[in-house]
Amino acid sequence: MMQDLAEILFSAEEIAARVKELGNQINKDYEGKELIVVGVLKGSLMFMADLIREIKVPLRYDLIAVSSYGASTSSSGIVRIIKDIDVSIQNEHVLIIEDIVDTGLTLRYLITTLSSRQPASLKSCVLLDKPSRRKTEIAPDYSGFVIPDKFVVGYGLDYAQRYRQLPMIAALKPEVYSTEKNSGKEEN
Ligand code: 5GP
Repeated sequence: MMQDLAEILFSAEEIAARVKELGNQINKDYEGKELIVVGVLKGSLMFMADLIREIKVPLRYDLIAVSSYGASTSSSGIVRIIKDIDVSIQNEHVLIIEDIVDTGLTLRYLITTLSSRQPASLKSCVLLDKPSRRKTEIAPDYSGFVIPDKFVVGYGLDYAQRYRQLPMIAALKPEVYSTEKNSGKEEN
């Protein structure tokens, strides 16, 4: 697995330190409030698990799964909910937790969909932000790291469902994914 990595962008220690900072910021911003955290499967699993343990305000969490169609290392923008959240978010403070915002189309879809359910507030927290590839004007409210246009794996992020268990975030060698046929349905 390690031989497929071109470079390590963030070590487990760097990620943990940044997650703590994000948690502290969220604690300040939501003081006296209660949160519903909505994690986007599957990539945000580790980030969400670590981040919520830094959050001191009362919270409930739920999970949503979306899929997009198109090349597996880029997003077509056609997004569909595969698994919806079970809880009502009406009049609740909602925080979406996403692994990475790339073109921004997935996050835009989630914000549009969830805001139609009339939450008291709706914000987004992403671990990684790749602003150079944005196709829609969207900026996450909280972002762990801004990264260049590289395909990254680890800490929940996959390539073809693999590499999620890596404790660090790393860029994959382009030859690992350029040789495969990247078409069809993609689950995030
Ligand atoms: P967007 O709709 O913002 O283009 O794409 C968001 C989704 O694309 C993410 O949730 C993630 O599943 C996938 N994605 C975008 N860039 C990367 C990347 O560098 N690595 C991995 N593993 N997934 C990515």
